Amino acid sequence: MEKHDQLLMKRQNKNLVLDILKTKSPISRIDIAKMTGMSPTSITRIVNELQLQGYVRETEAVASGVGRKATLLEVCGDVLYTVGIEIDKSLLKVGIVNYVGEIVSLHKNKRNESESYMETLLKIKAIIRKIMDENDIAATKIIGLAVGLPGYIDYKNGIVKVSDQLKWKDASLAEDLKKLTSFNVIVDNELKMKIVAESFTGKAKDSQNSILIGIGSGLGSSIMLNGEIYRGETNNAGEIGHTVIDPTGNVCNCGKIGCLATYISEGAILADSRKVKDISSIEEVFQSYRDREPWALNIMDRASTYIALAISNLLCLYNPEVIILSGNTIEKLPEIKQAIEQKCQLYIWEPLKQAVRIVYSELSDYGVVLGAAIQAQHLMLELE
Ligand SMILES: [Zn+2]
Repeated sequence: MEKHDQLLMKRQNKNLVLDILKTKSPISRIDIAKMTGMSPTSITRIVNELQLQGYVRETEAVASGVGRKATLLEVCGDVLYTVGIEIDKSLLKVGIVNYVGEIVSLHKNKRNESESYMETLLKIKAIIRKIMDENDIAATKIIGLAVGLPGYIDYKNGIVKVSDQLKWKDASLAEDLKKLTSFNVIVDNELKMKIVAESFTGKAKDSQNSILIGIGSGLGSSIMLNGEIYRGETNNAGEIGHTVIDPTGNVCNCGKIGCLATYISEGAILADSRKVKDISSIEEVFQSYRDREPWALNIMDRASTYIALAISNLLCLYNPEVIILSGNTIEKLPEIKQAIEQKCQLYIWEPLKQAVRIVYSELSDYGVVLGAAIQAQHLMLELE
């Protein structure tokens, strides 16, 4: 075997052992050997290396059962950290996540919609500093930052091409944030970050093919195929909000006519509601729906029809095992779930109906932050 191949195999074996430790710990050396098919000698060598590097420690507990008692091993969550950041129109969230994927601390801050790009970045810098101090985490233990935000993101170069919601355009976010914090930074669309969290610990756990739909101030989705985020050529795969469903319909803020978002997004619902009543917020529309005011019933009924159509179309295109609905509209108006489910019964093609689970996200508050931090760990952690 070539030296290069040997090194690669060594690294793969080490990663395999660490993966098992992360998911099955506490676990004994002998059980890892059984699971990997590697020799106990190899396992002992790899575990020794990992112990020296600080990834693994022995626990007090011992495995009971037949034969000699074995000391158990566990992963050290505090060996390293990543920071997940969510930037939204009116909210800024920063969380620090440890090596085993636990959120150590989560800060939520209001964001002024008129706040400039640089003001937001400086705020992020200050919050990270604060979290590090509060939790006594050294900069050397943080391997990087990851930002999730709404919009068209060039994730390879960390550039926000366009974010209508934040009103940012061609912003070199990864580079600018790195200059300010000196940490490495990755950037991606917020729904793509969130589906990483769903598949790590949420409703898409153990699923290789899943779709997350975000329904709120915007409308979009992210698609996980064969365990990988499906991005398409320019990272825009899943932007269902701008699929045209009625060429004679409403004008969209993208300039086209009849985009799906113009029947479902909060802004569109508000605009239609204001044709009937002097409405100040989306919450007021939702309350009117609960009060069974006919205009609100009509508008939300139409929205639920189009949500069901979107689900039905996504199912035909990608045949996922699970579809997760998330976002402000679902959280603030849980009553709409029933309407969506009834319409799904009507619109979903029979062969696909049995194969899919349509569920609701339970990571609402921290999904993007956690997914971003997990993604940073995946991309930035290189085992020696
Ligand atoms: Zn549009």
